[in-house]
Amino acid sequence: MGTVHLVDHPLVQHKLTLMRRKDASTNSFRQLLHEVSALMAYEVLRDIPMHEIDVETPLERTVGMVIDGKKLVFASILRAGAGILDGMLTVVPGARVGHIGLYRDPKTLGAVEYYYKMPGELHERDVVVVDPMLATGNSAVAAVERLKESRPKSIKYVCLLTCPEGLAAMDDAHPDVPIYTAAIDRELDEHGYILPGLGDAGDRIFGTK
Ligand code: URA
Repeated sequence: MGTVHLVDHPLVQHKLTLMRRKDASTNSFRQLLHEVSALMAYEVLRDIPMHEIDVETPLERTVGMVIDGKKLVFASILRAGAGILDGMLTVVPGARVGHIGLYRDPKTLGAVEYYYKMPGELHERDVVVVDPMLATGNSAVAAVERLKESRPKSIKYVCLLTCPEGLAAMDDAHPDVPIYTAAIDRELDEHGYILPGLGDAGDRIFGTK
């Protein structure tokens, strides 16, 4: 079984609950997603590499630890991934960004790729794939498969919500990829929506309903 990290910090849970409310405005949904994503970044990036640098304080020289943001790639699955991406970039502004465009075939629910653009030299970088809803798992599985072609140093998958079906799909295809989520909901409905969920994340972020 792949590793699943449930980010159960009270701040994350509180904000997620506010996002689930059907009457949350687009503005507040988007703002909450930014905040939750920045908080989740704290957990997701807990083990990223650091190195020492010399620092001159007002009093003396010392050595401090820094991360190399440029070695980190946030790979956003279009279009809802943009919501998590923006939040994570507020805490790691130097990170590189990739985009993967996948749409869900409404009949088969299978993932169809229409866009793929990643930074170069992925074999030297740690990749964090972001998409708010890990539902059927079809796009997550396809996105990770595509990324693995470039052999990045590591891959993590971050979502806001998932369900047993999505976790099982990722576990079948990519048990080596750890998943970070703020909740594991009950089930998928027949249209591939997570229950109780929060509806269509893209529509709620962008106000396109
Ligand atoms: N995508 C969404 O936006 N919501 C779901 O519930 C499932 C997939």
